[in-house]
Formats: sequence, structure tokens, C-alpha cells
Amino acid sequence: MNTSRRSFMVVSIGMGATLWLTRARADTPHLSESDPAAVAVGYKEDAAKVDKTKYPNFAAGQTCANCSLYQGKSSDAWGGCTIFSDKLVAGPGWCASYTNM
Ligand code: SF4
Repeated sequence: MNTSRRSFMVVSIGMGATLWLTRARADTPHLSESDPAAVAVGYKEDAAKVDKTKYPNFAAGQTCANCSLYQGKSSDAWGGCTIFSDKLVAGPGWCASYTNM
């Protein structure tokens, strides 16, 4: 196989894998606040709605988007989270497992 044909195949496979991963991410469901795993850590899609009496460790300005466990970009509305690997969490959300960057 010549070099240009091999390069074309590598690029094609890479593009296909990227498209598949992008589509898989878009199909990932959002974490519901009523999900038992979300309830267990007080997850809210809007950090302003966190029960501050129940979670006194919450501090203003903390959101999923600036949590070190968030896997999206800070500007993403939804992104992955290492503790909810099969669901997306809201960028403006929060839970008791929040970890400073
Ligand atoms: Fe959001 Fe961080 Fe809790 Fe995940 S661990 S839900 S990113 S606050």
C-alpha cells in the first residue's frame, strides 16, 4: 500500500471515529434530579436551587462547569461527569461531590 493511500485510510478512520463519538455523546441522556443516584448527592440542574441548609458546603459560584469532575468545556450547557458516567450533567448544576479545580 502506498503512503498516500495509507494516509487517506488513517484520516478516514479517524474522521469516522470522531463522528461516532460525537453522535454517541449527543445521544447520552441527561441526568434527572429524581434519579436515585442524583438524589443521593443533592444534584440540581441549577446550582441556585441547592438546599443550602442540607448542603452547607455549597459555596456561591460553584457549578458543574467549574468542578474538576466535569468532563465538558466550561461553556457547555451539558457535559459528562466522572461520577455519572452514563449521563450528562448540567453545566450550571451542582452536587455534594463538587470538587475544586
Ligand atoms: Fe456536577 Fe461535579 Fe457533582 Fe459531577 S461531581 S454532578 S460535575 S458538581
